[in-house]
Amino acid sequence: MALPQLDKYAHVPWEEKERLFEEVTADPRFADYLYGCYECGICVATCPSARFYDFSPRRIAQALAREDVALVYEQIQDDIWECSQCFSCLRCPRKNNPGGLVTIMREVAVRHGLASAKQALEGYSRIIYKIMSTGTQVSPDMIRPEAFPDWGPSAKETGDNLDVWRKAMPPETMHTTSMSWDVADKTLTELYLIWHMTGVMDMIKAVDEGLHMILVDVMEEKLEEAGYPLS
Ligand code: SF4
Ligand code: SF4
Repeated sequence: MALPQLDKYAHVPWEEKERLFEEVTADPRFADYLYGCYECGICVATCPSARFYDFSPRRIAQALAREDVALVYEQIQDDIWECSQCFSCLRCPRKNNPGGLVTIMREVAVRHGLASAKQALEGYSRIIYKIMSTGTQVSPDMIRPEAFPDWGPSAKETGDNLDVWRKAMPPETMHTTSMSWDVADKTLTELYLIWHMTGVMDMIKAVDEGLHMILVDVMEEKLEEAGYPLS
């Protein structure tokens, strides 16, 4: 006989779990991401994370469809960071978007500075800094053999000759090694404003105060120059 499952988060007040659940379901995208669940398992069959981890997009959709507040809380703490956000699960015959539900749940976890969010994002602060301060992706000079050991000698060769490779690219905006491409000041200002006005900066603060301070420093100067002082 199967033993009843203990609620791992029994110590967390019910109101807190309910608050997070309501925040997930109140998201404007939620109604378009969940229409009920046939429990057919097609999403699980297509999900790469379900293959390698104890993770199931079906469980995510079901918990939300059944309004299982306690299970949704447990998933926000323990499961959502296993999803690789590939959206293969969009094959759902019910037109659900389990990967999108995970996105919403992650955003709630980050906004509330949950320990699971801090832990999951710990290793990404350098990448978040790079993307948010420069407006571009991981820069070419981050391609070092120690970061990409599975590339073998190619990573060293590419890293050593980065300047030459970059200059060989037709768009001049890509003749950089410390950024993926040159981003115009106007674009950067717009990005900084968007991140401030949409609450992204508050989310960063909730999970990494140090990173938030560094980013504000970087953004402050540019926004002031453009006539948008932060304070
Ligand atoms: S988006 Fe997430 S849940 Fe959907 S298939 Fe990809 S890994 Fe699985
Ligand atoms: S594919 Fe859709 S309907 Fe089927 S189990 Fe997954 S979420 Fe439910």
